[in-house]
Amino acid sequence: MQHGWEGVVLKALRGKDFVLTVRGSEQVGEQYQRVRVSDGGLLAACPPHPAMWVRLWFEHEGRAHQRAYTLVDPDPAAGTFDLEFALHDGPAAHWSVAVQPGGTIEATVQGTREAEPPPATRVVHLVGDPASLPAVNSLLDAHPTTPARVWLEAGHPADRDLPVRARAGHEVVWVDRDGAAPGQALQAAVTGAWAGDAAADPAQDWFWVACEAAAARALTKHLRRDLGVAKDRVSSLAYWRAT
Ligand SMILES: Cc1cc2nc3c(=O)[nH]c(=O)nc-3n(C[C@H](O)[C@H](O)[C@H](O)COP(=O)(O)OP(=O)(O)OC[C@H]3O[C@@H](n4cnc5c(N)ncnc54)[C@H](O)[C@@H]3O)c2cc1C
Repeated sequence: MQHGWEGVVLKALRGKDFVLTVRGSEQVGEQYQRVRVSDGGLLAACPPHPAMWVRLWFEHEGRAHQRAYTLVDPDPAAGTFDLEFALHDGPAAHWSVAVQPGGTIEATVQGTREAEPPPATRVVHLVGDPASLPAVNSLLDAHPTTPARVWLEAGHPADRDLPVRARAGHEVVWVDRDGAAPGQALQAAVTGAWAGDAAADPAQDWFWVACEAAAARALTKHLRRDLGVAKDRVSSLAYWRAT
């Protein structure tokens, strides 16, 4: 598949290309699909790190569309990992439910890097939704003994049943979207919690935000400008854009 100008830019940035082969696929929730893949040599060439993501190329209406997805349980020895898809009306989501074992998908590794809490972080605050749940789980796996507060927005009631890898000392709060614009209820709940009893400590905590673009931007601004959190204690990325 031709990757267009995005492919040219990624090549210039030394993106590495691979072909993943689907081993199987299963529905994890009403609106959530897991696809198991063989890595085509990806993990040997690009050692995994927490919340590592790749750019997958989906064909739609004769064009290549690049979408970011997080590696779930990468196993370099076996050369396998899983991909988890929050379902909605989009080319990547459609592919995840239609693909059969033996199907392939092109992947480019470029731009992913480890986000790590500074040493001696008191509490890790993770803000996300089903799209960033794979990354949230990967961070909880990577920091199993660091106290964590996790806020997740449920776009559908069934999202609350999705598997969160919380351990002792990890508190999980699901916030229902409840008809509001994506990210709005989450933003209000998190901002309130950071100001209230479950207060955030700007000097000792680490804040990881990955949700709908407008909410991610607003929460980052709140952390930096209103709460005075230093740059190295905030990691934030728009995971998707509501249209
Ligand atoms: C670093 C990174 C890692 C990511 N990892 C994952 C992952 O592991 N799993 C995952 O599911 N997503 C992940 N995402 C988000 C995913 O890339 C986007 O949701 C992407 O837009 C989906 O593409 P699509 O072709 O299905 O839909 P698009 O063509 O992008 O959008 C179609 C329609 O669906 C809406 N839409 C798009 N995404 C969502 C969503 N998540 N929820 C509700 N509506 C949506 C859009 O607003 C639009 O109206 C990640 C994003 C980033 C930046």
